[in-house]
Amino acid sequence: MSDFPRLMPANPRMFHARVAGTRRMSPSFQRITLESTDLAEFHWRGLDHWFRLFFPLASDGGLRLPEVRGRLWWKSYLAIPEEQRPHCSNYTVAGYRRFDGRAELDIDVVLHWHEGKLARVASWAVSAVPGSPVALLDQGVLFDPPDDTTNYLLVSDESGLPALRGILRDLPADAVGTAIIEVPAHDDVLPVEAPEGVHVRWMPRDEPGSHAGVAALRALEAVEVPCPASYAFVVGESTLATEGRRRLQRAGLAKERITFSGFWKA
Ligand SMILES: Cc1cc2nc3c(=O)[nH]c(=O)nc-3n(C[C@H](O)[C@H](O)[C@H](O)COP(=O)(O)OP(=O)(O)OC[C@H]3O[C@@H](n4cnc5c(N)ncnc54)[C@H](O)[C@@H]3O)c2cc1C
Repeated sequence: MSDFPRLMPANPRMFHARVAGTRRMSPSFQRITLESTDLAEFHWRGLDHWFRLFFPLASDGGLRLPEVRGRLWWKSYLAIPEEQRPHCSNYTVAGYRRFDGRAELDIDVVLHWHEGKLARVASWAVSAVPGSPVALLDQGVLFDPPDDTTNYLLVSDESGLPALRGILRDLPADAVGTAIIEVPAHDDVLPVEAPEGVHVRWMPRDEPGSHAGVAALRALEAVEVPCPASYAFVVGESTLATEGRRRLQRAGLAKERITFSGFWKA
């Protein structure tokens, strides 16, 4: 069996872009917009389309990128001397707009802290200067429901909100199911476009010290999972993803009908 998701491109392409602007969306999200002529060739598939984001850490601001051969690039990335190696992490396309010969792409970055400081991508997102170089390596989509799906169950914490937002927007208008979205604060609850038959449940954490994923898992426990034709997509903090999958299997859902992915690890 392949180690790569089914809907990942066989020859992913690297796209070059520049920061166009950045703005706060809610207490925990910063939206950064990229733009370039290269991005006009990006084949946006909607849903949870994701990519590897590269931006320079080097003091000269230069962006040195790994060589991509088929789906392989990691060894070449590690071979870049540390002082020139760009930062790399995974992000979802939150919005994409094509104009005459150029395009803009939005990323919604969770503002989270590490050792008392904003973590690397969050810090870059709030202070990025228009014109700064970035690159994106296309990774396709993870959402892959079987054709006979009659009920959708979507679960995430804030890191998977851009993915769930895209999936809810692009589901068929007659889709039926439940989306459970955990976010750090009440004010992170923003309108989502979703089919009428999908019940969207927001789970703001608010209480200080509460752990990401706990509220979403509790809500998942209470949801009825119509088997056998449900399809579940569970992403976010790694315990939410793995424990969520276990609970769904215990409820009788076949493992092939569950896409789960740890987007980060506490
Ligand atoms: C397919 C995919 C799509 C993703 N899409 C998005 C997206 O659109 N928006 C988004 O914000 N994230 C998204 N993520 C998650 C993102 O890749 C991780 O949060 C990543 O760790 C951020 O990189 P960093 O360099 O800022 O932090 P890291 O250096 O990786 O981590 C620093 C510290 O922060 C902690 N940490 C990491 N992420 C979080 C978090 N979300 N909340 C709290 N603590 C955290 C880690 O435990 C670590 O201690 C996605 C992940 C995947 C796999």
